[in-house]
Amino acid sequence: MDIHGALREFWGYDTFRPKQQEIVESILGGQDVAVVMPTGGGKSLCYQLPAVVSGRLCVVVSPLIALMQDQASQLTQLGIPAAVLNSSQEQEERKDVFRRLYRGDLRLLYLSPERLAVPSTVEWLEKIQPGFFAVDEAHCISEWGHEFRPEYRQMHTLRDKFPGVPIAAFTASATRRVRHDILSQLKLREPKTFITSFARRNLNYIVRESTKKEKEKLLLRAIRKHKGESVIVYAPTIRMVEETAALLNERGVSALHYHGQMETGKRRVHQEQWMNGEADVMVGTVAFGLGINKPDVRCVVHLSLPKSPEQYYQEAGRAGRDGQPADCVLLWSRGDIGVLVSFIDKLEEKDNKEAAWQRYHAVKRLVDQDACRMLQICEYFGESPKSWSACGTCDVCGGLPEWMAKDDAPVRRVVFDSGVSPSQLAALKLWRRDYARKLRVQAYVVLHDRTLTELLIRQPATVDELMLVPGIGPQKARKYGEDILEALFVALES
Ligand code: ADP
Ligand code: ZN
Repeated sequence: MDIHGALREFWGYDTFRPKQQEIVESILGGQDVAVVMPTGGGKSLCYQLPAVVSGRLCVVVSPLIALMQDQASQLTQLGIPAAVLNSSQEQEERKDVFRRLYRGDLRLLYLSPERLAVPSTVEWLEKIQPGFFAVDEAHCISEWGHEFRPEYRQMHTLRDKFPGVPIAAFTASATRRVRHDILSQLKLREPKTFITSFARRNLNYIVRESTKKEKEKLLLRAIRKHKGESVIVYAPTIRMVEETAALLNERGVSALHYHGQMETGKRRVHQEQWMNGEADVMVGTVAFGLGINKPDVRCVVHLSLPKSPEQYYQEAGRAGRDGQPADCVLLWSRGDIGVLVSFIDKLEEKDNKEAAWQRYHAVKRLVDQDACRMLQICEYFGESPKSWSACGTCDVCGGLPEWMAKDDAPVRRVVFDSGVSPSQLAALKLWRRDYARKLRVQAYVVLHDRTLTELLIRQPATVDELMLVPGIGPQKARKYGEDILEALFVALES
């Protein structure tokens, strides 16, 4: 199967996103690659598709068990054999993974860096001889990054142990120094490097200095504008997380909270409820987000200044992974500055302190300077865009959006360009929630929001017609088509 055929057959997509095709082709050509692509750029497909097309195993090293599980079940739904090996598995389950590995049935195997470091892992990998390695979140390898993971350092042995196996490294955040570290630590050989733009053109960055009262008012407006859609609100402290969630609930918004001091079980339940759309708004500290790959978050609100542009870019970047328009609203006050400064003052080590001051000044410039926010972010990451000089959608370029500027912003219903019925969409979402539970996967793994809308617009009646709906490939249509059609039929009747 050629790469376009596989893209259509398994993912149901007609075109590649920028750079995806070149990356896939380089991997298929046996080259080492290093990819810097922002969140939502579509990194996973870059290593998943070559595994499918080549019919060989791709071993993916990834730092988060929850995320690995998620990706493996997503692939399974697409009809691509994938599995995870981790320490929390039952013996039987692990045996089954090995059976499939030795039979050559698997296309993708997800491993943690810790597991890779176990000597026996190298032994069985040598027997299997993977087609290539993919290192996800590769910035974790660098002490210069903000998410350094010591276990990632072990990965330099990959090249020595498997000299003939190509390595592909992926990250969303990499300064020059981190990038250099990735290449040298992994001992990449004449790697083809792909750096896609940091400009996320579907995001509207809106920055606003505001008092506490104004923050509340603007937050409510943002949530009203995105009624019925997924929203993340970042608050700086646990107390503010709880207060904000309570405030929202008082105002009739179903909001959940999430922070590091909650009981694990409760935290998981909240995350699940938000992931499957039972509640729209999640209010969290920065602890919320790692491994959140919900594609259809429509708005991320910050209630204070972030510590660095990197942090802001990453957190705000959880919006709009699906490429559809999304709002990133940063509400800050002069008081936040004091908090950041006293935090930096407490740092002991000289280099640390210096770096923290640099980040602080960069954040301050980002919010204070009268220059396109998106452009500023790109320039911060060392990029100088050639084809545009102003994004046209941030608050500096386009002014405050109407919904935010208006004093009596009307409570808007969910906005559809397409004119589908909100109740029919809600019915489909309910079906999806239950179906996802049955399959033990996340709701968006069953179908994206956008695909649900497309179903209501196109109203396919047969499995063949279903295959033409964007986001549904023939594989998925054959596997779940009858169930989807039945659910659509019921929703349309409702
Ligand atoms: P990243 O890991 O870079 O943040 P993902 O791999 O999670 O991004 O992809 C983000 C979203 O984009 C996913 O929902 C994915 O299905 C979608 N996507 C990826 N490639 C394409 C494509 N070629 N066409 C349409 N959607 C795509
Ligand atoms: Zn702009």
